Amino acid sequence: MVNTRIDAATERFALLGGTLAHTWSPQIHNSIFDAGGVNAIYLPMPCPPETLQSMVEVMRTTFSGFNVTIPYKEAVIPFLDELDETATACGAVNTVEITPRGSLIGHNTDGLGLSRALREGFVELNNTDAVVLGAGGAARIAAFEVLKRGGRVMIAARDAQKREAFVHSLAETQKDGAARISHCAMDDIPGTHELLINCTPVGMYPHSDACPVEDETLDRFNAVFDMIYNPPVTRLLAAGERLGLKTVGGFGMLYYQAVEAQKIWFGREIAPKSQRAIKKELEKLL
Ligand code: NAP
Repeated sequence: MVNTRIDAATERFALLGGTLAHTWSPQIHNSIFDAGGVNAIYLPMPCPPETLQSMVEVMRTTFSGFNVTIPYKEAVIPFLDELDETATACGAVNTVEITPRGSLIGHNTDGLGLSRALREGFVELNNTDAVVLGAGGAARIAAFEVLKRGGRVMIAARDAQKREAFVHSLAETQKDGAARISHCAMDDIPGTHELLINCTPVGMYPHSDACPVEDETLDRFNAVFDMIYNPPVTRLLAAGERLGLKTVGGFGMLYYQAVEAQKIWFGREIAPKSQRAIKKELEKLL
């Protein structure tokens, strides 16, 4: 069959990252382009660290926008011209807007993706009392989003030194939220809470038998969100369902951060009904 879809007017978008063998972003973005009748293409572009700066310059001159993923969400910042408020505060960029004059503006849509996924799962994020497992990049986004929405956050991570450094640097991003941050060991989470957010890779394929917390701990929560989306139902989510918690898997976050990225690039988004239909189709492929 002759491919007439790509022509001289096709807008180019890309994902810059390290190893991109398992990324879902091209499927998500290209499906949304198709549904919206947009003449655009989204390509995964893995690049070694020493090529990051030159790849960013290629983006500036020949692409209309791009995403950034592990391990470059922080490393890309010196090569950009401006950061929006969220990217500045969380110190990481996942979406870059290219203005008509060729300026590169860094945004971060991961937090919005998280909050939209939770809302879709009927889990309230505003003013919540959350425990975040892990102290890496995803934990920072989750904690930042909880604090931004007026909630309290307890960081539960295995390494005390990393945990304290993480909490210290998170507190520095806050005007009045610092008093709402606490921390504990991952295997000794005290009290009862609204929401548990897993931001560790524990339970991810191929180690799908692992679970980051015991049932006894999970039973002291009302809802659980797992950032992992492979497998779609992790051991943690299965345990949550068994214990009667509301459960939300990680694919929604990945999907809605992409929807939010396109909103930045195009200034609009496709109808909510189409958004849900595409997500459902993609979930069948997970
Ligand atoms: P990261 O920066 O490497 O942080 C991982 C965190 O998990 C670190 O605090 C690490 O602790 C901890 N950890 C790793 N293995 C552990 C174990 N066996 N037991 C206890 N803690 C452990 O990674 P990240 O970027 O934050 O990503 C974390 C997870 O979220 C990944 O599975 C990633 O795929 C997922 N994610 C999903 C989305 C989405 O859209 N759904 C978005 C971003 C990330 P140490 O420092 O002590 O090793």
